[in-house]
Amino acid sequence: MGGSGLCVRDLSVGYGPVRAVRGVSLEVPEGTVVAVLGGNGAGKSTLLRAVSGTLPFHGGAVTGGTVTLDGRRLDGLGPGRVVAAGVSQSPEGRRVFARMTVADNLRAGLLGARGGRPARAAALRRAHELFPVLAERGRQRAGLLSGGEQQMLAVARALMAAPKVLLLDEPSLGLAPLTARRIADTVREINEQGTSVLLVEQNAALALRLASRAYVLEVGEVTLSGPADELAASDEVRRRYLGVV
Ligand code: ATP
Repeated sequence: MGGSGLCVRDLSVGYGPVRAVRGVSLEVPEGTVVAVLGGNGAGKSTLLRAVSGTLPFHGGAVTGGTVTLDGRRLDGLGPGRVVAAGVSQSPEGRRVFARMTVADNLRAGLLGARGGRPARAAALRRAHELFPVLAERGRQRAGLLSGGEQQMLAVARALMAAPKVLLLDEPSLGLAPLTARRIADTVREINEQGTSVLLVEQNAALALRLASRAYVLEVGEVTLSGPADELAASDEVRRRYLGVV
């Protein structure tokens, strides 16, 4: 069941009676960036929570379907085991530990990570190379960083576990355009280093530039999917998500 990469099949998720995700199927083939677009409440965050095993913390549950990585079932695993299996998430709203130092935030990303001390040192080196500001400000409290820097920290923390697949929930949210572009450039660099990315974004223009494939989610269902350049050219996507009339 399922090929290589991350594979979501017929996934349904409920928060009690609220059916937030309804029969969604999507694939993130190894080495690719795949985007999920959709407006407020479409079910994007819920989809990522189902993959990362964090749904129970939000009162939700998978009611049908499967999530696999390289053919191995992830649904039903807790978040620590999902990280150990090679999938880690940078959550919506950044959620850095504001009172902890930047360096301790990064160390927190090692919980559940695979590999011994050399792998951990390599992960820290990689995070510092991608985001030099995090090395410069390692001893500062994370809460003192700017919004863009906190977003960088959230992404870097997720990378500390050296995931095969990185889940990004709205990395551009609330950031100035230039800062959002810098984050996007780094996501591309992370992908070029071999990490697959499942990117959830309301900023469709940014997401379609980064991704090779995209899915549009509306009220919990996939209504459109295809190569990113085709979606970017489609009238419906241009009108509804790119603000082109
Ligand atoms: P946004 O960008 O606004 O976060 P989204 O596409 O990520 O939107 P979700 O947050 O996944 O959407 O929400 C999908 C649906 O599930 C919405 O109807 C929302 O009200 C509902 N929902 C989300 N979280 C919960 C929760 N913890 N308990 C109950 N309902 C929830």
